[in-house]
Amino acid sequence: MTALRIAPRIAIRQARNMVRLASGRPVTTPSLGSMTLDQDDVDLAFDWLNGRSRWADETVVHQFEHVFAEWNGSSHAFAFMGGRIALSACIAALDLKPGDEVILPGYTCVVVPNAFDYAVVNLVYCDIELDTFGPSLDDIERKISDRTRAIMVHHLYGLVCRDYLAIIEFARRRGLYVIEDCCHATGAEFRGIKVGNLGDLAFYSSEQSKIFNTIGGGLATTNDDRFAHELRAFYRSCSLPDDEHIARQLRNVPLRYYQCKHPQRWWRSDIATLRYGRSELISTTPEEELGIRPAGYLRRMPAPIAALGLNQLRKVDAYNDRRRITARRWDSWCQTDGRAKPTVISESVPVFLRYPVLVEPHLKQDRRWAERDLGVTLGVWFISHTHPARRPVEGCPNADRAVRECINFPTLLE
Ligand SMILES: *Cc1c(COP(=O)(O)O)cnc(C)c1O
Repeated sequence: MTALRIAPRIAIRQARNMVRLASGRPVTTPSLGSMTLDQDDVDLAFDWLNGRSRWADETVVHQFEHVFAEWNGSSHAFAFMGGRIALSACIAALDLKPGDEVILPGYTCVVVPNAFDYAVVNLVYCDIELDTFGPSLDDIERKISDRTRAIMVHHLYGLVCRDYLAIIEFARRRGLYVIEDCCHATGAEFRGIKVGNLGDLAFYSSEQSKIFNTIGGGLATTNDDRFAHELRAFYRSCSLPDDEHIARQLRNVPLRYYQCKHPQRWWRSDIATLRYGRSELISTTPEEELGIRPAGYLRRMPAPIAALGLNQLRKVDAYNDRRRITARRWDSWCQTDGRAKPTVISESVPVFLRYPVLVEPHLKQDRRWAERDLGVTLGVWFISHTHPARRPVEGCPNADRAVRECINFPTLLE
């Protein structure tokens, strides 16, 4: 985007900001992503941009994997350029073959079904429950077949899913594998153990809207040495991103910091966009929405991105504490507004990446009420069963309802 093209947009935005400032109204609302970025992350990104000689240093990557595994209570962790690639690694580690079936929730990110599609594994969608938006065991039991090999569990919005233990036990009885999608729930616990450690394999994301942020990135974990062996083989078959992509991703750190987090982002974001806007990365490309595997999909994480991850991990517990405290504010909003709070299952500690609530569909369609009444911008995860793509998913009435009614409040307000 050229400066000339965005100049009129900046002028309009700043004119609106002047009106707001003059009438004493706030000029920013809390962002839904990148709120865990701080000045130290920006400094680190510049440091690595200026230190290309260190980019091939794999010890930083292995340190990141080691620190994550320790913190997560997992035996093995492998770092990739995205959670979706970590999922592809899990699929390879389980040796899922064309024609095998996986049961996965019909309320997910499109990159999840894509990863199975790329491996030609058949998708069977199960419904979710509306307490925690996790897969419903009742519906899994209805959809299981002779060809089912694996079940995918997710912990959406940072809530430990309601049927977690029951699904794990069911899968064990039936000899099925369990993959855990922990992209929203990094750090959430059940019975004192972090999510991702009860199933066979799990994957995590450090994409910019998730619990911790390297702009893009993800990890696959396991506690089983055989699967670790397979994950390592897959990992070694992946290439590193080229230097131009790494530089671009590093420039997204100041870009996102000034757009989403900096206290004066109402004007700083415009300057950052002029300076770094050309480097802006989007997390899901139009081709991925269509189900096409992007060129250079299978990439592992390079040192500069792992260094960002290490810095984010130092802060993740503190940020997760803050998310839980903000959740209490949304609990009381639910109370006064007569709405159902999301369920925190017994013996679990959620992380509340976002705080989900079901509201009347028109309140999801037109969200201006939230800014007016509550001073926040609402999230809309998910607007479709295979967000943000609109693949047909049938036989999942609860997921249909969540698509129409589920909104999400931000949990890091400053
Ligand atoms: C973000 C996300 C993913 C994919 O993670 P990436 O790092 O973006 O590839 C998978 N599942 C869920 C539920 C997610 O929110």
